[in-house]
Amino acid sequence: MKSAESIYKRYIPATVCEQEGISNTYWFVFSSNKLLVNIQKDGVSIPFVKTIEELNIVPLGTQQYLGTLEGQPSYALEVSEESADQDGMCFTDLRSLYGQLEEDIFILAGKALQIVNWDKNHKYCGGCGTETVTIQGERAKRCPKCGLINYTQICPAVITAVLKGNKILMAHNSSFTENMYSLIAGFLEPGETLEECVQREIMEEVGIKVKNIKYFGSQPWPFPNSMMIGYVAEYDSGEILVDGVEITEAGWYDAENLPELPTKISIARKIIDWYIHDYSQKNITEHIDNNSEKL
Ligand SMILES: [Zn+2]
Repeated sequence: MKSAESIYKRYIPATVCEQEGISNTYWFVFSSNKLLVNIQKDGVSIPFVKTIEELNIVPLGTQQYLGTLEGQPSYALEVSEESADQDGMCFTDLRSLYGQLEEDIFILAGKALQIVNWDKNHKYCGGCGTETVTIQGERAKRCPKCGLINYTQICPAVITAVLKGNKILMAHNSSFTENMYSLIAGFLEPGETLEECVQREIMEEVGIKVKNIKYFGSQPWPFPNSMMIGYVAEYDSGEILVDGVEITEAGWYDAENLPELPTKISIARKIIDWYIHDYSQKNITEHIDNNSEKL
């Protein structure tokens, strides 16, 4: 199964800037979860200037150093809502920038957004309410009174394609747009393995058992702070019975008659595209080969 090219070919993560002098910097600037971008005829980009002052905005929290991209420093920060759109630049919903921003910048923007929100939401200790302090050299905050340490939070969730012969299980979630169907997904619970999470979510939402659970790939999902871990599993037993709350409809579909699918930004769509272009084609070819051997 294909994986994307690693971001670490061009990006070196760090929490403390050790560069001397001031050089052009990538600024990941957020206001209410929206990213500041330059929209021009030849494409969309983020501000790439020496100092934040050049952007004429009002910073709110601490500037978070992200490391270097192609040797240039990059920072994330939140600004006040009064920092209105300006001069060809505007605050834009990150999801809508998928496919418009350069891929590595889009991935770093997701990381930047999560770090900005973590910084904002962990100003005070969750244990005793004391103001926290950042630990130098780490993406972590410590409470000076009780010692509690808060790292950036990431919530793992699994998403699974269930295959039965040449068919795939597609389900309609009550939160989706009217005709959209996708794969079964859900958050990991304390004390379970990822594979157990796959089994439980499918059992809870559509009432069937699965086997041969295989890892497909993963995708950071910064809306707000998830990690989607994709699996492919085989149908084992049971009849589809939707929970009626989260999942309102589900059924087995062929590659030729799939319902409306999620957009290409999601790993769900990457797994479904794999099913359409690799799995189902290969399965049909094998089926024909098996039959021709019998003749
Ligand atoms: Zn504390």
